[in-house]
Amino acid sequence: MAEPAPGAELEMRDALRRLRADGVQRLGERVRDLEAAWTALQPRRLAWDQAAREAVAELAASAHRLAGAGGTFGFPALSAAAAPLELILLGLRDEAIPSTDHIRQATLLIGAVAAAWEAGPDGHDSAAGPAAARSPAEAAEPVFLFAEPSERAMLSAVIANLGYAVTRLPELAEGAETPRIAAAVVDDAVPGALELCRRLAGRAPLVLLAGESTFEARLAAARAGVEAVVPKPLEVNELADWLDHFAGTRAEAAASILVVDDDALLAEAYALALRQAGMQVTAISDPAQAIAAIAAATPDLVLMDMQMPGIDGIELARVIRQTRRNLSLPILFLSAEQDPQKQMLARRLGGDDFIPKPVDLDRLVDLVRLRAERARALRAVMETDSLTGLLNHARFKERLGLELERAQRHGMALSLVLLDIDHFKAVNDTHGHLVGDRVIRGLSRSLQKRLRRTDVIGRYGGEEFAVLLLNTAPEAAAEIIDGIRARFAETPFETTSGHFFCRFSAGVDGIAAGAAETTSGEALISAADAALYAAKRAGRNRVTLAP
Ligand code: GH3
Ligand code: MG
Ligand code: MG
Repeated sequence: MAEPAPGAELEMRDALRRLRADGVQRLGERVRDLEAAWTALQPRRLAWDQAAREAVAELAASAHRLAGAGGTFGFPALSAAAAPLELILLGLRDEAIPSTDHIRQATLLIGAVAAAWEAGPDGHDSAAGPAAARSPAEAAEPVFLFAEPSERAMLSAVIANLGYAVTRLPELAEGAETPRIAAAVVDDAVPGALELCRRLAGRAPLVLLAGESTFEARLAAARAGVEAVVPKPLEVNELADWLDHFAGTRAEAAASILVVDDDALLAEAYALALRQAGMQVTAISDPAQAIAAIAAATPDLVLMDMQMPGIDGIELARVIRQTRRNLSLPILFLSAEQDPQKQMLARRLGGDDFIPKPVDLDRLVDLVRLRAERARALRAVMETDSLTGLLNHARFKERLGLELERAQRHGMALSLVLLDIDHFKAVNDTHGHLVGDRVIRGLSRSLQKRLRRTDVIGRYGGEEFAVLLLNTAPEAAAEIIDGIRARFAETPFETTSGHFFCRFSAGVDGIAAGAAETTSGEALISAADAALYAAKRAGRNRVTLAP
């Protein structure tokens, strides 16, 4: 059965979300065009010729489109004003001499359309807004917006359609806790925009909507603590990328399930029930496709009919388990099998549970969800380091690949740092392994505390760490890490027999903003590693930049 890969479903949802946000922006342009065209038409009332009538017909068509689009994008009041406007304009078009009544009504309705637009999207309209943009499991993260009154409605709607909740200015009093927001979006057209950025810096990732893109302007923004610049006219995709990036929502995907049942109709029924519960489902009716489907969809769980022609579920489970990475993949059997001995055999061969046929769909959804979530949690544990909770080696390298690709696509800077504790063997030898572990956790904590939430930290090896500093050139990264190094070197570790100090060395490499050549993650790692080695040879307790 032709099924979209689970990634495709997510991509479609993402594309739809962006289209919607983009649509809102176009909607605003249309409202403005409508007002301007109406104003331009006024002087022609005395010369009501064919051209004037055509212009009115065009306005009517615009009103028609607005009436349709307003509802779609969360502006029902706009729709409500645009629909009668279309009728009035059509009447006007057909008049030999424009009637004063029609003119007045049209002017009023155009005013109502503009007012509805300025008032912003209707939060209760579920057809657009965050609820439609995200799956039910994901709550909308708050985004603070600072913009001119004339742009506010449009930007609010764009952000809402991207699935974020626009909030009011957080309390900026000294020492006050800032409520957690995904990002602050600041329009540089507002007087005092950079001053506001300076005050917000460090409390939330800052996105500046910039009309000016000169180097001086960018530098001033960087000095004010701005992390992301999105040029105007607004590129919705770029803003979406940044918000998703700061909110960290990209990685969150729904549980992915593979359904195998030779009865295509049943397979589809199960798939439908699971999809309705927010899961991503691939359904196949040919068991021979199972291995390929697992490879393509990397499901969190397989739901499989036990009695199929040609091959039975137990045999198929065996084949699936022949691949190492499928060893821990949960398999749920759908079975009419009553014989407990056969059930036991199936369990031994890799089935995790039975769901009796005929299937109760509610129970099916509950069981599958529970098992899939547990499998995911287990995977998350396997992907993070147990001593520090940081990303493990494999996951860190994965992120490096993703972030490097992303930085190069956007022409942003990116730095990679490799850190290694100095003479750590001596710490273990003198104070024991448990104290050694405490030092590792201590360094992990100071990295987490001193780096930004958006930076990526991994435990790269025993007493080695790796850090990705996003949007940071290697020179700046080296400075930041050197600050952490100096503080760490002064932090005493207490033991029963007094205290001692630990130090670390680090090597840094990366790419500058707007770098012309592309590089690979492997190349960055080996350059940072060489720089780390140079730091060790030069006497340790220092940060070295790759040449
Ligand atoms: P250098 O300054 O050259 O890095 O010297 P070093 O002693 O730190 O380097 P070396 O690689 O020789 O020793 C690292 C030691 O770290 C060896 C290993 O026993 C210890 N180690 C690795 N992982 C852990 C861990 O999780 N906990 C503890 N306590 N020690 C660890
Ligand atoms: Mg080492
Ligand atoms: Mg070491």
